[in-house]
Amino acid sequence: MNKHSTDFEIPSGPAARRVSRQVRIHHGTREVFVGGNAPVVVQSMTNTDTADAIGTAIQVKELARAGSELVRITVNTPEAAAAVPAIREQLDRMDVDVPLIGDFHYNGHQLLTAFPACAEALSKYRINPGNVGQGAKRDTQFAQMIEVACRYGKPVRIGVNWGSLDQALLARIMDENAQRSEPFSSQSVMYEALVTSALENAQRAEELGLPGDQITLSCKVSGVQDLIAVYRELAKRCDYPLHLGLTEAGMGSKGIVASTAALSVLLQEGIGDTIRISLTPEPGGDRTREVIVAQEILQTMGLRKFTPMVIACPGCGRTTSTVFQELADRIQTYLREQMPLWKTDYPGVEEMNVAVMGCIVNGPGESKHAHIGISLPGTGESPAAPVFVDGQKSVTLRGEHIAEEFQAIVLDYVKTRYGRP
Ligand code: SF4
Repeated sequence: MNKHSTDFEIPSGPAARRVSRQVRIHHGTREVFVGGNAPVVVQSMTNTDTADAIGTAIQVKELARAGSELVRITVNTPEAAAAVPAIREQLDRMDVDVPLIGDFHYNGHQLLTAFPACAEALSKYRINPGNVGQGAKRDTQFAQMIEVACRYGKPVRIGVNWGSLDQALLARIMDENAQRSEPFSSQSVMYEALVTSALENAQRAEELGLPGDQITLSCKVSGVQDLIAVYRELAKRCDYPLHLGLTEAGMGSKGIVASTAALSVLLQEGIGDTIRISLTPEPGGDRTREVIVAQEILQTMGLRKFTPMVIACPGCGRTTSTVFQELADRIQTYLREQMPLWKTDYPGVEEMNVAVMGCIVNGPGESKHAHIGISLPGTGESPAAPVFVDGQKSVTLRGEHIAEEFQAIVLDYVKTRYGRP
């Protein structure tokens, strides 16, 4: 048998990005570009009461500090709309220049008209065409919001969601389908209604005067296969930038896995210009988790780099103590916490890999592949932890303070390798 019969296709990363227009979202001098040749943008959404300006500003700051490049806040009541300028001012006072997106449903036309300071303070509006109004009022209310966007020069996301799909449009598409000699499945009809809702409303917005390069689209559903099917079709039928997200992804590992499964397939095909992970936090849980998951999807796929990655083995019967899990967790947390400072002081540090391994079986090998690695002693091994730097063994740590000493070695490496001369 030929021992080497395959010329492997070396993965160079995801397919070429779908060609789209580019939308500029800005606040002051801070600009975020979505689509075109811009990197895929991470966004998130607060879950505070927007009327609580201080509480909301604090959470926006946390999300921005975690790496969210755009933050969406719901604007659902007059009190919330009145609080938006105060949120913006508070953020500016804290030197947080992340652009804010206002999420409007049902009464967006009234709020954007009655609260001009809110319309001005937001950097973008999200309009759900299924929640704009019923019957004859629908067109007028949609037009009112687009007119405000045009007046203030704000981009708009036409954000369709299958939980609030325009029922009149769905009924129309079902009727059209019933006329076919061979009707499509009900699932296809639903997909078509989602895509049509996004495209027709985008066209209507352009007819009302909103420039095409001020529009992004999304069609969120909660099933992985549904999302993939809908976005593949949407991507084929327009060149607007696309916002990806699996809506109502759920809690904990289910939410992370479902979002990752859906978004990875699309991103690998070059579809998606901005993403949000719709995780349900545990009670009292940290909202920034959704930002970290979004970053980790993009980084592990090779699309962007945000923070040094820790490679850690899963542990097994050879690791009977928790030392190695604690060290892996400590280093991961340490690296992430340093990034707000490190990304300006040590450019390129986000490309660093650190290995924390549990025993001699794969420890030295994996550690040599990383920029810095440590192979902790497994059960029965002598209590010594060799450290490898750029593939070479540099020192062996022993005793009670391995964690502190290893962290110091990591910091020293960062300063030496990524510090400016
Ligand atoms: S490196 Fe050692 S401890 Fe870690 S999974 Fe492999 S055998 Fe187990």
